[in-house]
Amino acid sequence: MPKIQQLSPHVADLIAAGEVVERPASAAKELVENAIDAGAKHITVELQNGGMTFLRVTDDGCGMSAEDAETAFLRHATSKLRTAEDLEAIHTLGFRGEALAAISAVSHIDLMTKTADSAFGTGLHLDAGVVTERDSVGCPDGTTIIVRDLFYNTPARMKFMKRDTVEAAALVSAVSRLAIAHPEVSIRILRDGEDVLQTPGDGKLFSAVYAVLGRQNAQEMVEVSSRWENYTLTGYVSKPSATRGNRANQLFFVNGRHVRSKTMTAALEEAYRNQLMVGRFPSCVLHLRLPEHLVDVNVHPAKVEVKFLNERDLFDCIRYGVEGALEKASGRVQMKLPQQRDVPQPQPAAPEKPAAKVASPAKDTFFRTISAEDYKAFAQVMREAPRPQMTPELKAALERKNRPAAPQKKEIPQPAPETQAELPVETEAHRIVGEVLNTYIIVEEGKNVLLIDKHAAHERILFEKLRASMEPVVPQLLLTPILCKPEREEAAVLLENADLLREAGFEVSDYGDGVLAVRQIPADLAIEETEATLNELAADLKAGKRTDPTAMRDAVLHTVACKAAIKGGRHTDEAERAALVKEVLSRDDLKYCPHGRPICAVLTASQLERQFKRA
Ligand code: ADP
Ligand code: MG
Repeated sequence: MPKIQQLSPHVADLIAAGEVVERPASAAKELVENAIDAGAKHITVELQNGGMTFLRVTDDGCGMSAEDAETAFLRHATSKLRTAEDLEAIHTLGFRGEALAAISAVSHIDLMTKTADSAFGTGLHLDAGVVTERDSVGCPDGTTIIVRDLFYNTPARMKFMKRDTVEAAALVSAVSRLAIAHPEVSIRILRDGEDVLQTPGDGKLFSAVYAVLGRQNAQEMVEVSSRWENYTLTGYVSKPSATRGNRANQLFFVNGRHVRSKTMTAALEEAYRNQLMVGRFPSCVLHLRLPEHLVDVNVHPAKVEVKFLNERDLFDCIRYGVEGALEKASGRVQMKLPQQRDVPQPQPAAPEKPAAKVASPAKDTFFRTISAEDYKAFAQVMREAPRPQMTPELKAALERKNRPAAPQKKEIPQPAPETQAELPVETEAHRIVGEVLNTYIIVEEGKNVLLIDKHAAHERILFEKLRASMEPVVPQLLLTPILCKPEREEAAVLLENADLLREAGFEVSDYGDGVLAVRQIPADLAIEETEATLNELAADLKAGKRTDPTAMRDAVLHTVACKAAIKGGRHTDEAERAALVKEVLSRDDLKYCPHGRPICAVLTASQLERQFKRA
């Protein structure tokens, strides 16, 4: 039997190092966090070869004395945590006193540091965690630390490193997250000598978001600002029309620290329910602040995962905060006109510095939001108020459309009886100009020209109507079962979820040989749409969505609404058009179709004037 031996301190350090510094990105994160903790206003991160051969972090923080500079590299050396009670209330980013020990154990380090009250700074050189040179040096206030040849003495770890570009990208994202968490600090990144990020450090979250996510993404975001009991939520979320194919741009911060949390992601996405296409995800930068005792950040060694005392409150805070912000955001998408060539542009070119680029006087009015309390109250009023119904004109028009053979009388659109009088209704006059491409209705409203996608609009109206009738989906029993043969995986997933499907009005069973027998479908669904609908639902189920009955019901309603709505490309008569436009203009909830496509786009008079060089 092998004899039990205690690990030498050196080996123990190497093991610990693996936990803290997994790759260059984690080393950079620790070093930048230290700089922020040291009160730096400017931090520069330089890297070469993905940070593997060279990583330098320069800050103008408080610096260290000669004595502290050496102590800092010992394990469990920290100026931030002295007692177990301190763990209860951690306000600084680093608190394990392990980062410098861990990084230095697996690299060559040069450190220069100076406090404001001493005339000289301290220079140290370390190899594998051991100080091999110490000097008195002339240097500016603050700290510069250079890490060379990371993992040079741990070849096993080195093997796990990916290509330089991959390591560099991970490092840039890690530092970018810190930049967003700390808009008050100006953070700059130079990758192989090239500027890749610079935040202005003006204390404004929007400036940091702008610098990190880019102009386009930042401008498609809506401000969130709400309070929920003792939780405060601030930040930005993307409009439903500006989503991505993955969750890479979902950034959550709790008390200033970047975290990942399934609850937070779920709450965010819940706020977008019925506004997103399958496989699309909103982006966000959300800062949640809550009393320290309600959150435990010491769960994960890399401090990314956190535990919340009350997940339900957390969920509600985010969900309602985001929902409130989306509700308030302008739902009309502005048209983007191509710039005219030949002629010099009248608008001034975008200024160079990101700091200047973000200053936009229009921002405040654009990013209006309400608090969670206001939202709660508002939601209550909306629930108690009569649901907006389809107008009689639209109903009549649809009935006509569904019975094309019946004799028709041309109807003059009547003003709807004022059933919606209790609701805040905008009554600005509008004029329907006509329809183009059999798809877009053109409307003049005040100084704006609106283009309404008739299919998207109608789909949303039907969806809201179906959803407003809160009964379960009414099933329709089929005399002859429909047989369909989806892909094998789809068929399996449908059978596995037969119970869920039943709630949604479908009765699906195994007919053998990969064939499914459908004996019952939702009453609103046309028989010939059955197979397509089931395929869509199978895709949702496979993607892990729609696992609760309400979501499933919504998914079915989406599909039904989509299949029943007037299609783009088909003729619509005047009465139908008038009814649709009236609905769209008078209701606040008609911004996006249930799949997240905008319903209405605006072309403003000033946009046109600019285009024609009148202004
Ligand atoms: P921790 O951050 O958990 O305290 P570290 O190993 O990261 O542990 O750092 C050890 C100590 O070194 C810190 O507590 C701090 O006092 C000092 N230190 C590290 N980096 C800096 C810096 N950039 N400026 C000033 N002091 C620093
Ligand atoms: Mg630290």
